[in-house]
Amino acid sequence: MGLPLFLYNLIRVLAMRSKRLGAARRASRSEILALQKKRLLHLLEHAARFSPFYRRRWAGNVPGPEDLSSLEPVSKTQLIDHYNEVLAVKDLDLASVRRWMAGTAVNLPNRYVLAATSGTTGQPVVIPYNRREWREGMAYIVRSSELTMEEVWGRRGGLVSLIRERPRVAGISTLNPIHVSAQLTRSFRTGLVANLLLSAAEPLEQQIDRLNRFQPTVLGGYPSAIGPLSRAALDGALKIQPRLIVTGGETVSGAVRRNVSRAWGLNLFDFYGLAETLIIAGECLAHQGLHIYEDAVVLEVVDEKGRVLPSGEPGDKVLLTNLFNRTLPLIRYEVSDILAVSHDPCPCGLCFSRIMSLEGRREELLELRSPDGQTVMVHPFVVESPLEEMPQIRQFQISGDSRGGLLIVIVPYEQGSDPADRAKQAVDSVLVPLGVGRDAVQVQSAASIKSRRGPTDKIMRG
Ligand SMILES: [Zn+2]
Repeated sequence: MGLPLFLYNLIRVLAMRSKRLGAARRASRSEILALQKKRLLHLLEHAARFSPFYRRRWAGNVPGPEDLSSLEPVSKTQLIDHYNEVLAVKDLDLASVRRWMAGTAVNLPNRYVLAATSGTTGQPVVIPYNRREWREGMAYIVRSSELTMEEVWGRRGGLVSLIRERPRVAGISTLNPIHVSAQLTRSFRTGLVANLLLSAAEPLEQQIDRLNRFQPTVLGGYPSAIGPLSRAALDGALKIQPRLIVTGGETVSGAVRRNVSRAWGLNLFDFYGLAETLIIAGECLAHQGLHIYEDAVVLEVVDEKGRVLPSGEPGDKVLLTNLFNRTLPLIRYEVSDILAVSHDPCPCGLCFSRIMSLEGRREELLELRSPDGQTVMVHPFVVESPLEEMPQIRQFQISGDSRGGLLIVIVPYEQGSDPADRAKQAVDSVLVPLGVGRDAVQVQSAASIKSRRGPTDKIMRG
């Protein structure tokens, strides 16, 4: 027997992370862009040579990095329809990937790690990484959390103090074994860190109970799970003293941030990642946006016609290029997230550009009506924010109805006091100024609700 596999993987990940960490801390803006350009060049050459899809699209030519903004984007539908052609390897295909999803892929080459997307909207996509690419993705995640953890464990700290402190990490996302977050959790399980993984779909009481027993020092999860837990901590039911709170996977509202700060005296750190690219961006110590890891990914904000927008303007979608996955090259892959990017310098000193507003998926927007019948598009977190701020509300659920209105079901904390009227006023106070009619929102109280969550336990909005 050689080195245990997890130790081997850990060492390889740490070696890669040291290289990338140094580069991130010291690099100037022009150095980052030069590195990104070099890696993009290699990716484009590789795709033109080994991926039949891109070879056909580009008619046998190899585009240069300067041509990126003129290349045709790849939609999710195109990726699914041409999956085998996009693949730049010969020993994987859609049929074997589907068998893996169904839990019957006994012959899948073990040099690959497969990660499924969330699929809260539409069918999930499986992204294969070879082991080296997967370790590189893990290295970006470790680096990202180290850039964060300085604030928590001190500048000299980083990984050394992380191991010395023996953090107790609780994650609240999904137990779905094929989802990217479950795959990452499995890869990071080293025995050095105590781990508790909860499903965001578990009843809140059960989450509180298990967290009270586990006593995590690091708490991470979907904002829709962290929000109710922070309110439970303010209420006194949840008795934990975390030193670090991390969110990802959904849009985080200002109200969740404020409740986390009130409950535990901490600024939460938000991360943006997808199965398609693993980590894309992470919040820095200045808490002024999420730095885009531009040595791992190219993120372009575009309008509905696909034109790249200038700094600061929120787009209709983003186009992502994964710079380290050669197995399934994704070049200008369309994601319907609404966000704005800033290239301005950040007070923290890192020279990566930042995502300044992250408003979530276009498909999640609620379609509401004004009194004169006009459509008003509103992101669900606009409605959630005032409800998060109300200490009388234990849980809530928002659903749209066919007449362009909203039904909000709330579970009050105390029996006898019904905050439904106040909740209605609070929601109206944010929606009426946007043009939504007062009769659009109904609020009802209930003794309990089971929040609707998708196949990967993300909240189903709207
Ligand atoms: Zn920063």
